[in-house]
Amino acid sequence: MSERAASSGEGAAALGEGGHEDKHDDEHEYEDVYARAKAYEGRAAAVEGVGKDLVNEPMIRHWCEAMGDTNPAYVGADAIAPPTMLQAWTMGGLSGHGGRSKVHDELLGLLDAAGYTSVVATDCEQEYLRPLRPGDKITFDSLIESVSERKTTKLGTGYFVTTRMEVRAGGEPAGTHRFRILKYMPAVRRGGGTGGAAASGAVAAGSTAGVADSAEAAAGTGKAGAAGFQAEGSAAAAAGSKAAAATVAVAPVAPVASKASVAPAAGADATAAPPRRPRPVVNRDNAGFWEGVSRHRLLIQRCDGCKTLRFPWLPGCNACGCLEWDTVEAGGEGTVYSYVVMHHPPFPAFDPPYAVGLIELAEGVRMISNVVGVPHDRVRIGMPVRLEFERVDEELELPVFRAVEGSGG
Ligand SMILES: [Zn+2]
Repeated sequence: MSERAASSGEGAAALGEGGHEDKHDDEHEYEDVYARAKAYEGRAAAVEGVGKDLVNEPMIRHWCEAMGDTNPAYVGADAIAPPTMLQAWTMGGLSGHGGRSKVHDELLGLLDAAGYTSVVATDCEQEYLRPLRPGDKITFDSLIESVSERKTTKLGTGYFVTTRMEVRAGGEPAGTHRFRILKYMPAVRRGGGTGGAAASGAVAAGSTAGVADSAEAAAGTGKAGAAGFQAEGSAAAAAGSKAAAATVAVAPVAPVASKASVAPAAGADATAAPPRRPRPVVNRDNAGFWEGVSRHRLLIQRCDGCKTLRFPWLPGCNACGCLEWDTVEAGGEGTVYSYVVMHHPPFPAFDPPYAVGLIELAEGVRMISNVVGVPHDRVRIGMPVRLEFERVDEELELPVFRAVEGSGG
């Protein structure tokens, strides 16, 4: 039995892993860095790692609670662990793993020294070979699987580094976890900021939206994204909010906040005009949403099979797997389910502090958006809000939520 959960989504695509190779003035230096990095391919990053805990019911339960995953396969006498927990069993926690190879750190250090100082997690991919059950003892090896040629993406120029981990249970192969990062030199933009910062900015919500997404979207089944972005090692740790932004790309919550995380402002390059909000990436999975926005209608997907509403837009139903759907229009009423106030870091086109809300619509789904019409420090959980459409510039309108009069205090 082999089951795959790939979460590359738009992350890798939008970053342009298949992008053209960037020829630099200093070819010698480039060849040298590339050759030295390439030499790390196949080298072990972890050998005979041992999971700190056996596969166990409490961790499974906490995971399922955090993800809101109520699949009955994960409870009871014959429970298995959610497959997407694969990496969780290998994590070292804050104290780390003893005896880890320094190869991964060395490789990143080499790229740092050559000026490729930024890192963004682009995607992870898992393959499941057998179910894990409480009591299974986890061991793992990982290696640097590949270092790409130098690529130029919207974020900047750099190298994709893929790490592959083989996970075993009781000595038997249990699954494979691939984790890919882009180690890059940020593109310098006129008007301040870097590609990386702009990318983290997202459309409506700033990097915080990404963080919220990763918490919300890590879903126990079928979405491997979140597990990947909790990866250990300096790369993912250093990635911080950028890794989270990439998570958005693999498990989008709101097209508003998500797709643009990896597609920085189209107009941010050559003019002295103030930086524009990043553009949403409209694709075949979310085109209907944006078409609705253009008509000032906030459309929620509804599964044909089980009638479950879903947001953000996805190709299929998480409840029943059905691929057929229609839409219902949100009435516009909602409440602030949660919120954060962004103070730092400042992103081009955003003016902190500002409030980013997780809005629960009256229909029951939640979306990330801005809360407007109330000072950032007066936004409160439970505050009633109402949908409106904000014209950002001549080509961009976004759904936002205005605090209902009298509720701001
Ligand atoms: Zn369904």
